[in-house]
Amino acid sequence: MINKKEKIILFKIARLSGVFILLLFMIAIVMVERRRSVQYEAMRTPVTMAVRPRQDKIKASPYIDYQKSIPVLMYHHVRNYNNPSDPINTNLSVPVESFREQVRALKNAGYQTITFNNLLNRQIVEKPIIITFDDGYQDVFDSAYPVLRENNQTGTVFVMSNFIGSPGYLDKEKIELMLKGGFELGSHTISHPDLAKADPSTLEYQIKSSKEILEKEFSRPIEVLCYPSGRHNLQVIEIARRAGYRAAVTVNFQAPSNDLLTLPRVRVNNTDTAESLLTKIENFNQANNRFLWNYQ
Ligand SMILES: [Zn+2]
Repeated sequence: MINKKEKIILFKIARLSGVFILLLFMIAIVMVERRRSVQYEAMRTPVTMAVRPRQDKIKASPYIDYQKSIPVLMYHHVRNYNNPSDPINTNLSVPVESFREQVRALKNAGYQTITFNNLLNRQIVEKPIIITFDDGYQDVFDSAYPVLRENNQTGTVFVMSNFIGSPGYLDKEKIELMLKGGFELGSHTISHPDLAKADPSTLEYQIKSSKEILEKEFSRPIEVLCYPSGRHNLQVIEIARRAGYRAAVTVNFQAPSNDLLTLPRVRVNNTDTAESLLTKIENFNQANNRFLWNYQ
């Protein structure tokens, strides 16, 4: 027989063990859940987890607010050329007087020209703009460069390394003079092929070797690439990135992403006036203002 006192003790023991079992059960549930969520996380993000940079390795403020807008203008020839039987080259030629008016209008609108090097090194002014010249024609030195100098402005010229010194193209001496005057030099490949159709070894040669040739010839880093006729694809971009380019320009009016290797540009044509150019720039800024450009 158990007495009343023993009964109470037994009851207390039973109650305590009940609570203990319940606690064990709850701990087990929590552990299983945690394990499952860890497994799920690993399953969900195996690749990005591996390549995601450590937080402490990310540089401070690596973004530039594109809303503060860096329009990039695309010129080819600056010359008085109007040949109805050659509409393509006529359209690529901005008359000298139009160019002068455009540069003055930009200045009056408060724009100040910078180079890609300025942009990449965060030397940003109040209202920056970049002026680029594709193909490296001689008239850039004869007609555009003096106008820019008159107005204390600068530009970036993209040359094909094989064309330097050919008739109608800039020679080494003129490029050196422009560089001394604050101009920037970029690569427009070796010989202007369609990069979107080229095989990997051609891409390597056209993109990487042109950079090395220009760097050796002009003793400076070549940081910017201009895709010939804007032609590029993911493979082209990747090779440009691996070759060490920090920025590259397309002929697109709107950027597909905030990648500095697919920068959009405003095309300036034969018939553009100062006024039409300012309108184009306005539209360009609107079209691209959702991007934050990562330029580390
Ligand atoms: Zn070109």
